Amino acid sequence: MTFPIQKTDAEWRAILAEKGAEPGAFDITRRAHTERPFTGKYEEVWADGSYHCVCCGNHLFDAGTKFDSGCGWPSFWKPIEGAITEITDRSLGMTRVETVCSQCGAHLGHVFEDGPTPSGLRYCMNSASLEHDPKP
Ligand SMILES: [Zn+2]
Repeated sequence: MTFPIQKTDAEWRAILAEKGAEPGAFDITRRAHTERPFTGKYEEVWADGSYHCVCCGNHLFDAGTKFDSGCGWPSFWKPIEGAITEITDRSLGMTRVETVCSQCGAHLGHVFEDGPTPSGLRYCMNSASLEHDPKP
């Protein structure tokens, strides 16, 4: 799969370092690693505003769709239309749906069908893949 924004690993490392992203941000966004639950900086953040891809700034979620799932990662029930691409992931002996940024392909997390109404979906994200902006 190709995405509109293409950069080398070195370029992504430089961008993340410049932004002061979390230490694991490169491995999470570019190598599909997962941060440990209850460790991310946004898990317990309930401020208004918006959430963006830490790599390219793509607007992914509005803060109003964030909910307390108790799973240890920031969870949302609805992404911004077209912002996220879903990919079937058969790693670790499970079939899950991986979510990546539609602009740059950054790994964000997975989506599960046990979320709240109205969507019934839980977008389970890595904090390190996200950047909160207090503006909508
Ligand atoms: Zn992105």
